[in-house]
Amino acid sequence: MLRPILIHPDPRLKKLAAPVADLSDDLRGLASDMLETMYDAPGIGLAAPQIGLSHRLIVLDCVKVEGEAPRPLAMFNPEVVASSDATSVYEEGCLSIPEIYADVTRPAEVEVRWMDLQGKEQQEVFSGLWATCVQHEIDHLDGKLFIDYLKPLRRQMITRKMVKLKRERARDGA
Ligand SMILES: [Zn+2]
Repeated sequence: MLRPILIHPDPRLKKLAAPVADLSDDLRGLASDMLETMYDAPGIGLAAPQIGLSHRLIVLDCVKVEGEAPRPLAMFNPEVVASSDATSVYEEGCLSIPEIYADVTRPAEVEVRWMDLQGKEQQEVFSGLWATCVQHEIDHLDGKLFIDYLKPLRRQMITRKMVKLKRERARDGA
């Protein structure tokens, strides 16, 4: 089932999300809804707060090469356990901030620990686009958006644009 994605500014995007204690079929269903919603958007990552739910759950699939097998990942309680000193810059976007892109500097490599759909603990080192994406999504769980890394003036400009976009969408009933 597709879930509506919240658009910034929204207080639900600024909240600290609660850890997932026990995996239930509801939560597994939610993860599959989130993957469906992400692919449909289309996007490469989505965090539960973006659909208004305060759970520490993210989904991602950063395979972008045509013809390459998809790799849908659902992570409960994801945590960065180590980051590289080396950084990389990616032009980031966000499904909650449509049509806005900006360069963000982050650690180039991160080691992430999470609980998978079977309730098993996983740990993996991510690099490249995956590293950027997983950090961007984990930020969402802490109420942080990629525009929070930009200069205040730029951020305010983007927020004003989004307020206008939301007003237009509400008026058009979209
Ligand atoms: Zn985002």
